[in-house]
Amino acid sequence: MDLAKQLAEQRRLTEDEYAHLIRFRTAESSVYLAKRADQIRKKIYKNHVYIRGLIEISNICRNDCYYCGIRRSNTACERYRLTKQQILGCCREGYELGFRTFVMQGGEGTYPVGKIADIVKSVKERYSDCAVTLSLGEYTRAEYEIMRDAGADRYLLRHETADREHYRKLHPAVMSWENRMRCLYDLKELGFQVGCGFMVGSPYQTAESLAKDLKFIEKFMPDMCGIGPFIPQGDTPFRDIPAGSGELTVFLLSVIRLIKPNILLPATTALGTIMENGREQGILAGANVIMPNLSPLSERKKYSLYDNKICSGEESAQSVSTLRDHMRSIGYQIITAKGDIIK
Ligand code: SAM
Repeated sequence: MDLAKQLAEQRRLTEDEYAHLIRFRTAESSVYLAKRADQIRKKIYKNHVYIRGLIEISNICRNDCYYCGIRRSNTACERYRLTKQQILGCCREGYELGFRTFVMQGGEGTYPVGKIADIVKSVKERYSDCAVTLSLGEYTRAEYEIMRDAGADRYLLRHETADREHYRKLHPAVMSWENRMRCLYDLKELGFQVGCGFMVGSPYQTAESLAKDLKFIEKFMPDMCGIGPFIPQGDTPFRDIPAGSGELTVFLLSVIRLIKPNILLPATTALGTIMENGREQGILAGANVIMPNLSPLSERKKYSLYDNKICSGEESAQSVSTLRDHMRSIGYQIITAKGDIIK
């Protein structure tokens, strides 16, 4: 409990202390951290939960990450790429449902940067009161600059792990941890609101590597951080590795909220997939963002990063009113707003 209290008071621990906090967590320390995280979030964001419309624009990817269902080598994956018209159609529907942020996520290298810029420009022209978040992987600084100039406001690029050796075990050698880090710093310097993040329980992860992730968050000070449990996908090399823990994910959401009180922190789909009421638990522990799925129903099942990914019911943007009622029942309010970080 001492370390949990220290974190809540000082917002910082040493790397060894983070590892200790994680390894020896108890029900008592989890409940305590969730309570403190919730208090600090409410001071800044009240009981507001921001929603983002997630549009999975393509599952074509040049990368071959060992954990991911849309990796290049997965021949069982039926590939698709949305057209500009389809993406604009998703935005129109999302706008009517009350979404004021659109997150365009997809495999890497599907669209040339000029095409991405063209789509972003059109979305911003039509919906000038909305934010556009991109989550399309690694590009050069000059390419990110083109995306920013087209009007993209935010960029999500999970760092995946802050431990270089660990990164190597999750990705083929052609992918480099250094380049991923370079991208994150470039995005920040270019003025994007930037999100990093990692999977909880990814293969070879240890309390020590998670401690490095937390130290990285302290140092990088992202505007957003996406964390969710690793969930195996049957057509990947990690198909037999057990899923990460929902309980540890919820615990880490509280820790991250305490490290950076104003961070935008989603309760992710992966958390909702692995754990009954996972998203609610995440919100109660300090998360303040939910990203319902706005992708065309015909393609949704094909964006299969991991097995049994939820994409209907309350996970669906079309069910936002049910989600709103549900959040209200646990004391939170879904807000129709761009939902920028409050500085
Ligand atoms: N291509 C972009 C990128 O690399 O950032 C965005 C798409 S990528 C599929 C989005 C995220 O999905 C990854 O950053 C990874 O953390 C997560 N992911 C991939 N496979 C997963 C799995 N098996 N379980 C949980 N999360 C997974």
